[in-house]
Amino acid sequence: MNVERVIVGPLATNSYIVCEREECVVIDPGAEGDRIMRQLGRKSLVAVVATHLHFDHVGAVARLVEATGAEFYAHSDDWRIYKSLNQIAEDWGFAVPELPTPRGLGSRVWRLEVLHTPGHTPGSISLVGDGFVFTGDALFYRSVGRTDLPYGDWEALVQSVCRLYGLPPSFQVYPGHGPETTIGAEARGNPFINADICLGGRHSRLY
Ligand SMILES: [Zn+2]
Ligand SMILES: [Zn+2]
Repeated sequence: MNVERVIVGPLATNSYIVCEREECVVIDPGAEGDRIMRQLGRKSLVAVVATHLHFDHVGAVARLVEATGAEFYAHSDDWRIYKSLNQIAEDWGFAVPELPTPRGLGSRVWRLEVLHTPGHTPGSISLVGDGFVFTGDALFYRSVGRTDLPYGDWEALVQSVCRLYGLPPSFQVYPGHGPETTIGAEARGNPFINADICLGGRHSRLY
């Protein structure tokens, strides 16, 4: 499986094009749909998946779906609250994108395994491939997703990140923003949630 990153939009969102031979999925097309389409070239797009429904991860969903007929997938826990989840974006002056109705998620989408990793939003997911994981805004290089936005839940985020640390340490982490990292590097060195906290059982608020 081949993974390409395209950094898009005003919040520098990582969009990923994941391909197996001529078949691809796009994860988190936050903006700049034409650029993503060019990058896809002649390959066929079979699915568009959002790790969560914040506006900066879905701005080009409609463009890609209209152009290719690909299915759009997102977690129903975010879809139910889509407008209110993004109210704050409107307050900041960003337009909230119109979306096609997403298909709900099962345990897999295309060749990727779906893990429900809530906390940053209720419907946040991670997508696990062979040796790598897309973590959306749950886990970043030396950081984790913010939980101070509407519907954020710190306790849920800690549990989700601890669940991600259950993946093999060698797994590459492709986050929703910023550089790549690995599960092992974050489990050891993440300053917000590290593996010791996970082993502690009860997760108290860190700050
Ligand atoms: Zn987000
Ligand atoms: Zn984001």
